[in-house]
Amino acid sequence: MRKFVYHFNEGSKEMKYLLGGKGANLAEMTNIGLPVPPGFTITTEACKDYNDHNQILSDDIYAEMMTHLQILEQETGKKFGDATNPLLISVRSGAPFSMPGMMDTILNLGLNDLSVQGLENATNDARSSYDCYRRFIQMFGDVVYNIPSYRFEQALTDLKNENDYKLDTQLTATDLQKLINQYKDLYISVSGREFPQNPFEQLRLSITAVFDSWENPRAAIYRRLHHIDNQLGTAVNIQSMVFGNTGESSGTGIAFTRNPSTGENLFFGEYLLNAQGEDVVAGIRTPEPISHLEDTMPEVYQKLLDVAALLELHYLDMQDIEFTIEKGELFVLQTRTGKRTAQAAINIAVDLVHEGKLSKEDAIMRIDTSQIDQLLHPSFDEASLKATTSLATGLPASPGAATGQIYFNAEDAVLAAERGEKAILVRNETSPEDIEGMAKSVAILTAHGGMTSHAAVVARGMGKCCVAGCDAIAIDESQKTLQTATFTLTEGDFLSLNGSTGKVYLGQIPLVESEIGGHFEELMSWVNEAKKLVVRVNADSPNDLEVGLHFGAEGVGLCRTEHMFFQDDRITYVRQMIIAETLEERLIALAHLKEMQKADFAGIFRVANGKPVNIRLLDPPLHEFLPKTTQDIEKLAGELGKPVVELKQRVQDLGETNPMLGHRGCRLAITFPEIYIMQAEAIMESAIQIHDEGIAVFPEIMVPLVSSKEEIAIIKKQLKEAIQTIFRREQLVLPFDIGTMIEIPRACVTADEIAEEAQFFSFGTNDLTQLTFGFSRDDANKFLYAYQEQKILPIDPFQSIDQKGVGALVTTAVQRGRMTNPALKMGVCGEHGGDPASIHFFHKLGLQYVSCSPYRIPIARIAAAQASILEERQEKVMV
Ligand code: PEP
Ligand code: MG
Repeated sequence: MRKFVYHFNEGSKEMKYLLGGKGANLAEMTNIGLPVPPGFTITTEACKDYNDHNQILSDDIYAEMMTHLQILEQETGKKFGDATNPLLISVRSGAPFSMPGMMDTILNLGLNDLSVQGLENATNDARSSYDCYRRFIQMFGDVVYNIPSYRFEQALTDLKNENDYKLDTQLTATDLQKLINQYKDLYISVSGREFPQNPFEQLRLSITAVFDSWENPRAAIYRRLHHIDNQLGTAVNIQSMVFGNTGESSGTGIAFTRNPSTGENLFFGEYLLNAQGEDVVAGIRTPEPISHLEDTMPEVYQKLLDVAALLELHYLDMQDIEFTIEKGELFVLQTRTGKRTAQAAINIAVDLVHEGKLSKEDAIMRIDTSQIDQLLHPSFDEASLKATTSLATGLPASPGAATGQIYFNAEDAVLAAERGEKAILVRNETSPEDIEGMAKSVAILTAHGGMTSHAAVVARGMGKCCVAGCDAIAIDESQKTLQTATFTLTEGDFLSLNGSTGKVYLGQIPLVESEIGGHFEELMSWVNEAKKLVVRVNADSPNDLEVGLHFGAEGVGLCRTEHMFFQDDRITYVRQMIIAETLEERLIALAHLKEMQKADFAGIFRVANGKPVNIRLLDPPLHEFLPKTTQDIEKLAGELGKPVVELKQRVQDLGETNPMLGHRGCRLAITFPEIYIMQAEAIMESAIQIHDEGIAVFPEIMVPLVSSKEEIAIIKKQLKEAIQTIFRREQLVLPFDIGTMIEIPRACVTADEIAEEAQFFSFGTNDLTQLTFGFSRDDANKFLYAYQEQKILPIDPFQSIDQKGVGALVTTAVQRGRMTNPALKMGVCGEHGGDPASIHFFHKLGLQYVSCSPYRIPIARIAAAQASILEERQEKVMV
């Protein structure tokens, strides 16, 4: 018979797919002797079985669970539902990948009107017993019967107000009993059902509710955002309760073994006395920093430090630990690899290498490339910031700077973002329902909650600027106002937030690009040792190239010359070249353009300083450069001294029905060879100029959109003749290569022939994807979402290479190219050159380089290193 339930002492950390991350770690901690309250895990397989059988929990699974419950009763010496010493349990979800706050948890299960007296009897504490009971009724109502939790909160607040209490902890046992009765009435009035007194019924309903929570919309959105497989399912952890709400020697908290914002090796966390689990995360009360625990309970603090050190050493990574103190005794309820900012991730990984706990390769493998973007976040322009005074200061929950318009609920923030605004989501505290609003906003501001509140944790994971717990502001979510001592702001007003300092500013502050600090450079030096792929930059200007080099680019992989053609000082000559009806006329325009292109290329060569520079000859259809409006046509006619009617006709003649498949790329050079010849001359003459300045230079001249050997043969011959003429005239020979883009399926299957003529191949995977699928690059987003939804395609193929189809063509081209030209240099310059999954694929193919936009260079370098480390490790396993 299949086993669906595992006691904590039967599992291990390796079993996370079966037991979920939480269950696997609870098992691991139990087995290494940490003080974990006993319990068991119902597996993710049980969740799948439940879903496969129309959301019915099978009798076998229930019976197996009951056996483990009986063992738990023996372990704790308590009885479930007992009137004298009841066993209370928590029921928590736990998926294979951490999905913080996305799914449901129920605490204090097993309480009813009878067993609450048993609890009071056993603990001799009426207040905390009734507090547990009211919490259970509330959580159960919310999770199982969908009674909105604000209805319970409202009743609680009303009762506090009636009694003039400020804190929940001021409620007496009698108050709580009254509240419990009100809660029970809420069940009837809102759900039409009574609160179930039978603990076994409570348990069955809770287990199925946790299984159901896997499918709730916020969990589904979280999985989509984090690319988590929908099929995995969640486990359910059932654990005997310990109580943090039994007075001032009890409490609950969350601790990180290192600082999750900066990575600093300092114990970090927060706790609340006389509170239960959810209070810290919910951000309803503002927690104390963990260092205060050292003053109030030094022994517990020391124990917690020991546990943290042991767990970090055991997992060899920063841990996020949930703990409860029950009457001075420490219990560990959860450990997991802590979520952290990108900067912290790098600093922690490098520190662990310095501490001798991790190899350099392991440190590189730890880096989540999708997080690296965070490092490149902007900050405020210093001068503008100095001129602004801050409005309020909250907690620096997630770094980065942002400026935008405020919205008071997730839906409004989503709508604003869809209108193209930069929305800042402003809430008293966020909850998992806000997930989409958080994702669509540029920043998040909350008035309540600490560094481990939902807003803080989720924003850090998203790499989004967040200021939390900013209690100097009062937020009225229903009136949509934000108030400080001096200002009242309403929906749509501008605010600026600094998530690194916690400061909130009125109005807009200009942003500047980020500076990468900490151990980044050291990590990247290891990355360079590990990677085999060269990473180049796609740069059309010296400025792009400078940014690329700053991030570690090793050359230019693509310079799209047409981007230079649109500049104001040259568009008239470009147009003159296009509409020219005679060669003479065209040559006059080209002579002007040549001088301008020479200056462009010289600028790039100078900055490249000897690194290879791949310059692509003109690619787009010519008519793209032509004037579109009558006014522009008239203006051009005036400039060129041509009749307007004639020019209009010429513009019309040059139009194409399907320009992307039309007169573009190397086809231009077949009809007008003088265009590419001008560009090749400009490249070599500027190369000679830079060489004469004493700077090394290595141009690669790239012919786009080649589909046959004959095309490249003809063009290459013309270019070579023009270049030889320059060399003869200048009495100098410089090294250079002429090669092709491979971006047409026919080029892939005839690559062996093309390689006879080309010194390099650069895969233009954008066009290759477009032409392989027959999906227009410009229009495909109108339907690609449906392809992903219906699982026809796992991901947008313009983002990440389609390995099966487009990838097979690239593979064919690589093999055929090498067949006739073993020295062929090969790389990728399409968008896929900056996509980690595609980079792994290109590495496996043995390409020499990838090229991507400047800000993706660090990601591409890390992905290249990870691909090569992975390959070495797989080879070792094979031996
Ligand atoms: C490509 O097609 O992949 C490419 C790099 O060229 P472009 O995007 O300019 O068409
Ligand atoms: Mg292309």
